[in-house]
Amino acid sequence: MLPGGAKIGRWQPVISGRHAFDSAARNAEPGLAVNALCGVEVSTDELQRIAPEIAWIREDTCMACWQVLASLQ
Ligand SMILES: [Zn+2]
Repeated sequence: MLPGGAKIGRWQPVISGRHAFDSAARNAEPGLAVNALCGVEVSTDELQRIAPEIAWIREDTCMACWQVLASLQ
């Protein structure tokens, strides 16, 4: 668990890769578009679903999100 992880948010595999999202994005209303830490736009419907196990394996980690998180440490 990252320090401050609750504020930063968590990783989620979506169609365009495994991105990190802050808690505001994760808690946004259904049907909206929100941004990952790297700026990629994702629908909340996709963000808030329960990702299948295979998606965690299949999707590549977004290095831009990773660098944002690393810079916050
Ligand atoms: Zn990203």
